[in-house]
Amino acid sequence: SRFREGLAKTRSSFSEAMNELFAQYREVNEDFFEELEEILISSDVGVETVMEIIDELRNESLLKNIRTTEKLTPLITEKMAEKLDRTGEDSKLNMNPDGMTVMLFVGVNGVGKTTTIGKMAHQMKAEGKKVVLAAGDTFRAGAIEQLEGWGERAGVDVIKQQAGSDPAAVIYDAIKSAKSRQADVLLCDTAGRLQNKVNLMNELAKVKRVITREIPEAPHEVLLVLDATTGQNAMSQAKTFREATEVSGIILTKLDGTAKGGIVMAIRNELNIPVKMVGLGEKLDDLQPFEAEDFVYGLFK
Ligand code: GDP
Repeated sequence: SRFREGLAKTRSSFSEAMNELFAQYREVNEDFFEELEEILISSDVGVETVMEIIDELRNESLLKNIRTTEKLTPLITEKMAEKLDRTGEDSKLNMNPDGMTVMLFVGVNGVGKTTTIGKMAHQMKAEGKKVVLAAGDTFRAGAIEQLEGWGERAGVDVIKQQAGSDPAAVIYDAIKSAKSRQADVLLCDTAGRLQNKVNLMNELAKVKRVITREIPEAPHEVLLVLDATTGQNAMSQAKTFREATEVSGIILTKLDGTAKGGIVMAIRNELNIPVKMVGLGEKLDDLQPFEAEDFVYGLFK
């Protein structure tokens, strides 16, 4: 599948290490667990998550009397998938069943926020939805033009104001216009200023207030966009954003360009925020729903 192809880099480094491990150890013992632990940590799975996985594997292998590493493999994949998707429905986007759905995109510059909005607009339009984009990143030079470019490519309208204008005013405008155009979905870009957390917090709070005033149950999603190639740095960004606003889901971009795909597990498990979608390239159809089982099984193939 596309999903597995996009994971080629993560997969090759991970499965190479796993193959070596299984070739070296036929028997489940402490040395095996220690090496497995090291492989997972070096794949950016995250120390806490790794500890949990190893502890549970250790206990269950005793309990179920699993003595060969070969017999342990299904349990390893099962554990990893379980850590990635606790409800089995993690990747579902929350859509408004009777009215316009509003989604807010947050994240620092360069992570792929604008690209992701463009891809999502394209996909939703292909599903027959009427999509409108709001150019709420009035701060970064070129952000508005870039979003307009994606709007053109996807064939959807973009609501904008001048650079430097108040993001909340842009979003307010966009809600009004989108409503009058009877849009199904409004995708809102925002500025990604992390340097000043208080500003970021205030700005996002203001934007959310404007949205909620117009549509009480909105925003239906606040999606944090993170760049997988930045590994543990993405984790610390996620922590900061979570302090600044409520985040309902994560979109992890550039999984195609990294061997650090294991970061998905750390994010899911340590932040307890579902990974909803992943970016697997720069083209319009390179955004895919995150499939936990597919992800883990992909790593082992
Ligand atoms: P923003 O500043 O967060 O809006 O980031 P952009 O949308 O401008 O993206 C920054 C760069 O990352 C661009 O060159 C994009 O083409 C690239 N990019 C975004 N998503 C992906 C992805 O999933 N895979 C790859 N390989 N590149 C991506």
